[in-house]
Amino acid sequence: MTERQIRLFGDPVLRSVCDPITPGDARARGLVDDLVETVAVPGRAGLAANQIGVGLRAFSYNVDDEIGYVINPVLAEVSGEPELVDEGCLSVPGFYFPRLRYPFARVTGIDLDGNPVEISGEGLLGQALQHETDHLDGHLFIEGLEPDVKREAMRAIRSASWY
Ligand code: ZN
Repeated sequence: MTERQIRLFGDPVLRSVCDPITPGDARARGLVDDLVETVAVPGRAGLAANQIGVGLRAFSYNVDDEIGYVINPVLAEVSGEPELVDEGCLSVPGFYFPRLRYPFARVTGIDLDGNPVEISGEGLLGQALQHETDHLDGHLFIEGLEPDVKREAMRAIRSASWY
């Protein structure tokens, strides 16, 4: 297992739509190991495969001391009234911006053995499930900001030391 370097905003891999993982794909176990190891760093809530440079559909999460992963995740359900929540991203380090998220989300997918898995939750977990499935479709959370917030966010990001 390796803690992998996180790709930052501006890296084209973050804009790529990730490919489904075929059950039995030899790359899957190493990818999952790295996703789990890399998200386990304190302060991290979720990590999509393309954030570590791999264009395959898998993400890991680390919420309320529970670390897990899902392969080929599908956002199967969201519910409740969308609420403005502060959101950040490991690929946009140092910034949090308010955006709308559903308070509840449920994701379905498979584990390394090909068995169906389901993860659901409210609050930070629900938010992370929405955020990470967006990543795998090549979307960053900034795209969902209100236009004026987005303008301000882009200005701030462009002046960040890492950009
Ligand atoms: Zn992110």
